[in-house]
Amino acid sequence: MMAQYLEIKSGYPDALLFYRMGDFYELFFDDAVAAAEALDIALTKRGKHNGDDIPMCGVPFHAAEGYLLTLIRKGFRVAVGEQLETPAEAKNRGHKSVVKRDVVRLVTPGTLTEESLLEARRHNYLAAFAEVRDEHALAWVDISTGAFHVMTLPLVRLGPELARLSPSELLVADGDSENFRELETEFGLSLTDLARASFDSTGAEKRICSLFSVSSLDAFGNFTRAEISAMGALIEYLDLTQKGNLPLLRKPIKETEARTVQIDAATRRNLELTHALTGGRAGSLLSVMDHTVTAVGARLLERRISSPSRVLETIHARLDAVDFAASNARVAQDIRERLRAVPDLERALSRLSLDRGGPRDLAAIRNGISEAAYLNETLAQHELPQLLATSVSNLAGHDDLVALLDEALIAEPPLLARDGGFIASGYREDLDEARQLRDEGRSVIAAMQADFITQTGITALKIKHNNVLGYFIETTATHAEKMLSPPLSDTFIHRQTTANQVRFTTVELSELETKILNAGNRAVEIEKTLYQSLRQAILKKSGEIGSTSAALAELDLATALADLAQAQNWVRPTVDGSRAFDIQGGRHPVVEAALAQQSGTPFVANDCNLSADSDAAIWLLTGPNMAGKSTYLRQNALMALIAQMGSFVPARSAHIGLVSQLFSRVGASDDLARGRSTFMVEMVETAAILNQADDRALVILDEIGRGTATYDGLSIAWATLEHLHDVNRARALFATHYHEMTALAGKLDGVDNATVTVKEWEGEVIFLHEVKKGAADRSYGVQVAQLAGLPEQVIARARVVLEALEKGEREGGATQKTLIDDLPLFSTTPVAPPAPAKESAVERLVQDILPDDLSPREALDLIYQLKEAA
Ligand code: ADP
Repeated sequence: MMAQYLEIKSGYPDALLFYRMGDFYELFFDDAVAAAEALDIALTKRGKHNGDDIPMCGVPFHAAEGYLLTLIRKGFRVAVGEQLETPAEAKNRGHKSVVKRDVVRLVTPGTLTEESLLEARRHNYLAAFAEVRDEHALAWVDISTGAFHVMTLPLVRLGPELARLSPSELLVADGDSENFRELETEFGLSLTDLARASFDSTGAEKRICSLFSVSSLDAFGNFTRAEISAMGALIEYLDLTQKGNLPLLRKPIKETEARTVQIDAATRRNLELTHALTGGRAGSLLSVMDHTVTAVGARLLERRISSPSRVLETIHARLDAVDFAASNARVAQDIRERLRAVPDLERALSRLSLDRGGPRDLAAIRNGISEAAYLNETLAQHELPQLLATSVSNLAGHDDLVALLDEALIAEPPLLARDGGFIASGYREDLDEARQLRDEGRSVIAAMQADFITQTGITALKIKHNNVLGYFIETTATHAEKMLSPPLSDTFIHRQTTANQVRFTTVELSELETKILNAGNRAVEIEKTLYQSLRQAILKKSGEIGSTSAALAELDLATALADLAQAQNWVRPTVDGSRAFDIQGGRHPVVEAALAQQSGTPFVANDCNLSADSDAAIWLLTGPNMAGKSTYLRQNALMALIAQMGSFVPARSAHIGLVSQLFSRVGASDDLARGRSTFMVEMVETAAILNQADDRALVILDEIGRGTATYDGLSIAWATLEHLHDVNRARALFATHYHEMTALAGKLDGVDNATVTVKEWEGEVIFLHEVKKGAADRSYGVQVAQLAGLPEQVIARARVVLEALEKGEREGGATQKTLIDDLPLFSTTPVAPPAPAKESAVERLVQDILPDDLSPREALDLIYQLKEAA
């Protein structure tokens, strides 16, 4: 057995080998040590190898999924080695044969299909990056849904695309992985080396053609060599991990960068589109926008948020669909009610295609397509906008399949096909017969027990069943003697004696047992064959079911966005080819939701007008910290994104000229993992914006230059703004705490000042969160610091320093020298620490108590004393 283990293991040096032994998967050697630690299970030993103990651990077969999930999450890959024959078959082959085993599947983060291992509302992408003669391409699949895409992109665009898709696994050619190692931590993906030969584009072309049974790839579009190479590598890897059992993939769709808004990885992170900065889904734009009721709908929403469109027709078609749902609220609510009952067709289909499904997946398909048929009927009566009309037409056409599944399946079938019991009675005659025989046998057993009791006169006699003995007759030890002696012993054959019971059988009983068993087995066999034929009937329609699923997702999303718009008061934006950016009464959806939840304070809506006829239109925003500058910047960036994904927007009105690129430089965080300081990160991101932004870009910049000395920072911010205005000519919002910059508004045509207003009241600032034209008068930094709870002494000292600095500036030429000389130092500062209030007698008493030293008696006495002193 060990020899077999080692041979199989040698084929999977990078994976943990789950070696099936009866009801367990066992792991040996280093695999066992690693898995025992990762899973927190016992490490034991079994036998010896070269004189040393072999470390071993095991997980039960029926609970393997949970363990698999933990291992995958912790970055392992797992090779599942199954028994390919029964021990009996092995014995037949030869006296000492070990059961045949082999790996049936390699489980990796990018190739999961199990419901319990996947997040229902998120995609799970496996991607491959290929290079052929200086041309690059990225291909990606989600084998749990069949989605298959490819695009050409320059190497520098790899990061942004990975940020958009967030695949869980990326394949690169063997030897290249060192160049991509950084991506692992940056995008939380697992990097996999694949043999260079797998990327060979000629072989790849053949693989793709054979997968889709076409003679030439031209049927799907024009692909570059690099694109073919990336797609081929994916298919090769699926073949490798699924052991030839290829998943159902849809035809590859070629994407072009030109169709979606270009958003880089940092901007995506900063705007918290699909993940909050803290990592989870909560607090992201996705989480507040998600009103979908199906998993496919939720996944579509995630795709839309990640890839807003820059094609006007697409945006308008999507807006029309939401508009229809918003203005036909009753119809939309009805659709949503029906959609709630629709299971995840895509994932059920994927499991069936890999033969990892069960009766419940058949039922999921049945329920899904029959709901779809109902929706088709109800919606066909309406005058629908184009996108919905197309979707609705894809909902029908499954009548035959629905009829078949309806007739064949029971209402709520079990998860596994193994034990049968999912085919409806009346569907197949031979199955009904077998079942009847089995069930009748069971009632004959009951009659037989009564007979035996009469025959023996032992009323405590029972016929029972277990997996080892099958059916047997059981009496207590006291009655056994009678049965073990003639004449009863002629009929009753002794099988087993336990502590209190003695067990028998009879010829009659074993014959009946064989009959019941045979009938039962026959029933299960028939059901298994029927399962396979129903599965095939479904797979034959997989293309149509896939389109139905996509159509359901579209319906779900349109009605969900309408529901959101209605609940939160969002409006349809005007999106066109102009260079307008005119938002009236805009809000930040996530901050607004957080405020509503935490304090109930209303969010203050704000306008923003960056409309530019030909020139740049830039607002330079000043105002104290905490006034709401970042919120304002982000909400306007989000506004463009939400509008271009085809949704209504959180504003009173919005007119947006198509945005092609979205850039943000907000917040600052050290990227210590990559050895970059805050300032360095900031400059790298700013450089990217200034080098790439075109006149259709929307740029938001928050506090550029903050990470360095004042004059350095100011000069960099100043020059950056001029560059955006003169060279990039982009629409931009620029928040700064350098008040000196407000002078630029007078100098540059396209620059306006705006400020977030605050009120000062009794020395404290009150934030009004209102944005209006004009420059802030002061920065109120000291007041904000006071709000944050800086010690009184420090605040007082800061006021003095500030006053001196401002005075110096007014008089022209304050130097640090005068500052140091003129200002009294701490020791002489007249600010005394707040005088401690006078202690009361009770307080003094309490102060002296040492609870640990008190006996209960002393404690009681103390309470009397305290009472007295009070
Ligand atoms: P700044 O960038 O100016 O330091 P932020 O944008 O981080 O300020 O805002 C600080 C806090 O003020 C936010 O967390 C939010 O609670 C609140 N806030 C910001 N804008 C608004 C608004 N328009 N209406 C209500 N509260 C707001």
